[in-house]
Amino acid sequence: MFRVTVLGSSAALPTRSRGVSSIALEREGELLLFDCGEGTQRQMTVARLSRFEPDVIFISHIHGDHTLGLFGLLMSMSMHDRRSPVRIVGPDRLKKLIVEVFRILGTKLTFTVEFVHAKDGLVHRGAGYRVRAIRTEHPGECYGYRLDEDRRPGKFFPDRAVALGISPGPIFRKLQNGRAVEVGGSRITPEMVMGPPRRGRSFGYSGDTRPARRLVTFFKGVDLLAFDTTFSDEYATEARQFGHSTASESAMLAERAGVKTLLMTHISQRVADATILLEQAKKIHPDSVVAEDLMQFDVPLPR
Ligand SMILES: [Zn+2]
Ligand SMILES: [Zn+2]
Repeated sequence: MFRVTVLGSSAALPTRSRGVSSIALEREGELLLFDCGEGTQRQMTVARLSRFEPDVIFISHIHGDHTLGLFGLLMSMSMHDRRSPVRIVGPDRLKKLIVEVFRILGTKLTFTVEFVHAKDGLVHRGAGYRVRAIRTEHPGECYGYRLDEDRRPGKFFPDRAVALGISPGPIFRKLQNGRAVEVGGSRITPEMVMGPPRRGRSFGYSGDTRPARRLVTFFKGVDLLAFDTTFSDEYATEARQFGHSTASESAMLAERAGVKTLLMTHISQRVADATILLEQAKKIHPDSVVAEDLMQFDVPLPR
C-alpha cells in the first residue's frame, strides 16, 4: 500500500472545512507525516489513522501552521506508553522548540525523540525507501521532501525459464531474488529470465515555497506532488511577497518536472472558491487536483 491522506490543506488559519498543513503517507504498514499543524491529531482520528503512530515526521519549517500539532501528538503517543523512538526531520530550531515546550509543561515523554537537522540531500532511509530534502524559497529555513521507493526486480518471465530447462520451484525463486543458478552444467543469470529493474513509487511534498527552478529537478517524475498553491493567479504579487505559489506557478512546475499528479494544497482563505485553482492549473497541467481534507490517493506500482 502507498496511500497519501490529506489531513490539513489550509494556509495559516484553519477554516470550517480545512485544517492547517499536514499530510500522512501510509506505506507497507508504516506511517509517515509531512508537517503537523494544529488539529492534525484529530484529523488522524477522523481518517482512522490514529491506531498507527508515525515513526518519522518530516517538518518543512518552523511556522506555526506546520508545527503546532506536534506537541499534542507526541503527548498522546506518550500516554499510550510508546517505547520506540520517533524521528523528527526538520529545521534547526525545531529541536529547541520541542525540548522547551515539554520542559515547561513538565512532561517527560516515554520514548526518545531523535532530531535530524534537514539539509539538501538524503535525510532518512527507511525499509525499502529513502527520503531526500531540498531548501525551498520561503522566509526562514524551509525544506521540501521527496520519498522514493527502492527499485524493484524486473518482471519475471516463467516461459523463458522453462525454455532454459528450469522447472517451477525453488530455482525460480532464486532467480527472482536476483541470484544466478547452475542448471545442467550451464549458468543462468536473472537477466536471462527477467526484464530490467522497475522503479518504485514516489511522493513529493514542497512545504511552503515559491516555484523555484531547483525544485523542478528535485521533483522530477514523482507520482504525486503536494505543492504549495496558496493563491489563485490574481494574487501573484502576494505570492511573491510572502514566498508562496499560485495555481499557474505550481502547475507550471509540475509540468516542467514531468510530475504525474499535482495536488494543490496550503490554500489561502482568500481563495473563496477553490475551483478557480483547478481551472487555472488544468490549462497547464491537466492532472491537477485541489486538496480537500481527508482526501486519499492510492499510488499504484509502476508497471
Ligand atoms: Zn504555511
Ligand atoms: Zn510558512
